[in-house]
Amino acid sequence: MKLYNSLTKQTEVFEPLHPPKVGLYTCGMTVYDFAHIGHGRKYVGDDILRRTLTRFGFSVSHVQNVTDVGHLASDGDEGEDKMEKGAKKYGKTVWEVAKFYEDHFFTTMDSLNVLRPTVSCRATDHIPEQIALITTLEKKGLAYDTPEAVYFDVTKFAGYAELFGRQKLEDKKAGVRAAVVEGEHKKHAADFALWFKRVGRFTDHAMHWESPWGDGFPGWHIECSAMSMKYLGDEIDIHTGGIDHIPVHHPNEIAQSEGATGKQFVKYWVHYNFLRVDGKKMSKSLGNFYTVEDVIGWGIDPLALRYFYLTAQYRSELNFTRESLEAAASALKELKKQVAVIHVSAASRTTLSGEKLDKVDGFRSRFDEALANDMNTPQALAVVWEMIKSNISSQDKYDLLLDFDDVLGLKLSDVVISDADIDVEKGKVIDELRAQKKYAEADAHRAEYLSLGYTVTTTSNATIVRKSS
Ligand code: AMP
Ligand code: ZN
Repeated sequence: MKLYNSLTKQTEVFEPLHPPKVGLYTCGMTVYDFAHIGHGRKYVGDDILRRTLTRFGFSVSHVQNVTDVGHLASDGDEGEDKMEKGAKKYGKTVWEVAKFYEDHFFTTMDSLNVLRPTVSCRATDHIPEQIALITTLEKKGLAYDTPEAVYFDVTKFAGYAELFGRQKLEDKKAGVRAAVVEGEHKKHAADFALWFKRVGRFTDHAMHWESPWGDGFPGWHIECSAMSMKYLGDEIDIHTGGIDHIPVHHPNEIAQSEGATGKQFVKYWVHYNFLRVDGKKMSKSLGNFYTVEDVIGWGIDPLALRYFYLTAQYRSELNFTRESLEAAASALKELKKQVAVIHVSAASRTTLSGEKLDKVDGFRSRFDEALANDMNTPQALAVVWEMIKSNISSQDKYDLLLDFDDVLGLKLSDVVISDADIDVEKGKVIDELRAQKKYAEADAHRAEYLSLGYTVTTTSNATIVRKSS
């Protein structure tokens, strides 16, 4: 499998540190407002990556944070703390805001059939780990204490400025603005906060904890370093985020983690391009901020949104319009119709000619090649359609469709569950026996159903027992 690594700017062959294990850390959402369809693109991207790795035989540990601590990153954000802004806007406490939007995030991702992370970790549940990491950085001379915050000293981390091919430190625009913030005691404009103290503009900051540097709260970047290292170790295989994380958040994570351990933090960096809406950045003020609830309100299946995301490779920009979503919805509807037709017409397996068997293998390997080619999902979808139109048997088409859907995640197996010819109860009998590891009994049932003239298909989700016509 090949992945484009944003750190080296090269497409590289993926070789995990400890095969077949893969440590995957995906930057989570700041839970101060609704998850929108832009977020959907990023997390469906993570989901495709994880399912692809699983398909290729890797065993993935997927860790994702929830940024539920209020922060105001001195090196990027302007204005108010995001969580407190959300609390004011919706008349809730910061804790209520965080929980409400965390739940909304997961509901949204469930509706897009995004697998839940192996570990979902909240920043506020990992304050001691963050304090420990800052203490290590301080001991190593990479952090310094000031009246308002503990900062990371970027000049002490060799190569900081050039990470991800950025400009030199002196040219950093963000630094220039940060330098003029009143009451700041940074040594360098690009230094970033590891721990904010509850003083000055943060005197009333709602979330706060005791620390060796006084009452306060962590800076934004430290949580990802601390939690990635806690759950996946000092060195991990893949770390992902949106392209907006390339200039600040991810260089800072590297500086913190590698500064503390002296080891390479991440082997492959994956960044998803943005979803634009009607050619513009999505924002409430422009009235083009949409959620999955909006999509459902338009009478469109959220999985059509998933299909829409798959029509573009993750590194290219994707422009959302109602028309393009409607087109994806029609394509998905047609695909599901084809699945139902193929399923109904699938006769019991007949002996295939060598030529057709080669074709079946060919479709499978071309689908895999598309995914292995830096997750080229539009290419993978093209293979799906070509396969549907081909002359291979319906049974083989059906098997391939369900096999491909393990990665596509369009719930194609649900289409057949509603099929009138399916005997759901008989399928359940086999699945329950298999779940109890009673394989011999399961096989005996299978043989019995076959002798009664049923066809029995095993998919990764369920066993489908169907009357043969
Ligand atoms: P946030 O909580 O807003 O920082 O976003 C969480 C993740 O979603 C980050 O990795 C962002 O890069 C990503 N993200 C936010 N907006 C969009 C968008 N419009 N398109 C794609 N990804 C986005
Ligand atoms: Zn992060």
